[in-house]
Amino acid sequence: MKILKFGGTSVGSAERMKLVEQLINTEELKSTSRIIVLSAMSGTTNTLVQISELLYAKNYPQAALVITEMELKYRKIIGELYKTEGIKERTSLLLDTHFGHIRTLAKDRERFSSIKERILLAKGEQLSTAMFQYFLEENGVKSILLDALEFMRIDENNEPEMDFISEHLHLELAKHANNLLFITQGYICKNSFGETDNLKRGGSDYSASLIGAAIDAEEIQIWTDIDGMHNNDPRIVDKTVPVAELSFDEAAELAYFGAKILHPSTITPAKAKNIPVRLLNTMAPQMKGTVISNKSATSDIKAIAAKDNITMVNIRSTRMFLAYGFLRKLFEIFEKYKTPIDMITTSEICVSVTIDTATNLEAIIKELEEFSSVEVTHNQSIICIVGDSMGDTMGYSGKIFGSLSHILIIIDGKDKKETLQALNKGLFNL
Ligand code: ADP
Ligand code: ASP
Ligand code: MG
Repeated sequence: MKILKFGGTSVGSAERMKLVEQLINTEELKSTSRIIVLSAMSGTTNTLVQISELLYAKNYPQAALVITEMELKYRKIIGELYKTEGIKERTSLLLDTHFGHIRTLAKDRERFSSIKERILLAKGEQLSTAMFQYFLEENGVKSILLDALEFMRIDENNEPEMDFISEHLHLELAKHANNLLFITQGYICKNSFGETDNLKRGGSDYSASLIGAAIDAEEIQIWTDIDGMHNNDPRIVDKTVPVAELSFDEAAELAYFGAKILHPSTITPAKAKNIPVRLLNTMAPQMKGTVISNKSATSDIKAIAAKDNITMVNIRSTRMFLAYGFLRKLFEIFEKYKTPIDMITTSEICVSVTIDTATNLEAIIKELEEFSSVEVTHNQSIICIVGDSMGDTMGYSGKIFGSLSHILIIIDGKDKKETLQALNKGLFNL
């Protein structure tokens, strides 16, 4: 079984959906069992987030306007995607149902809540998968639409429940034992309260990997709008090139430290089951893309990524420094507030940590100040350089860094572009 995930741009218009149909039905794939995981059409999740924000702000007229605009966009696609009156009619009814539901969620004025927000956010993937499946049906391609809410589940810590996912996905698949092609939603799931929830922005990649791991897939393909993982952030740096091969660890580091092409958690389930992940370009399917596997890395610097909105917290002990238990006490506070630490340095006088979630910062500082003095710097960026061996030709520092598989550097956020450009020139000669 293969998993093929298509992102927002890949299903972003009627034309693109038609292209996806061709990519999942090549001669090579036709006889293979496959699960197609789809994102919402590009822009949709952003619009749904915007609608929720308007509803929280009680700006009902504006929310109604945005809903109507969104509905018009979807109605327009009917004429572009389908040929037959029957399917057009059914899609029209599908839109009636979903937009009716969205308006109901938006109408209940006083009580727009996180639960309703998450039901709203799920609409994007529910729409794209249902519309795509109608398209397949119209073109005589047999497929089954699997409801991700039946098998994708997270626990009270927002971690995927692998056993549940595997058991329930197998049950769903067993209902259609002779079928080869399945379609399902990325991103959406249920939580431990049985509510509709999601795997956070960009989570469809993670869905694909979880699904792959749950059924021990042969391969997970992530189809997007670029030809694989590039050596540097193409949104920021002028000249970047695709990296042909990455190890699981290298890809996981890059994803975690800002390479938007992959949701930060995507690699974990694939690595656990040793399933290769291939990054491919929907718009240029002939390109090789990137293969991520357990193959040990060649000794080269592979790529650079950058993570923004990092907060640096400098903590000075007010008592005798490095007294017994100081670091433990410090870590316990971050743990209590479920705030992961990305980097840490200790010197004789100070411990510095970086965090990317400042939600509980005030409470954390308050507790740290009980035994230390605290200084906070916002808007930092972490630059992550991944790969082996910086080469012997680079002198002692080259040798030192060469023995590490990745390097993290913290800089002021405003220097990010310049730093990434400079590293691109210095390390890749680009
Ligand atoms: P999708 O909608 O298919 O999930 P995303 O927008 O989430 O696509 O991810 C693809 C985008 O990731 C690319 O268009 C590119 O701008 C961005 N990106 C950031 N860093 C990298 C990188 N190192 N390599 C490739 N793409 C990257
Ligand atoms: N549609 C969701 C988002 O835009 C999930 C995804 O595309 O991966 O964040
Ligand atoms: Mg994405």
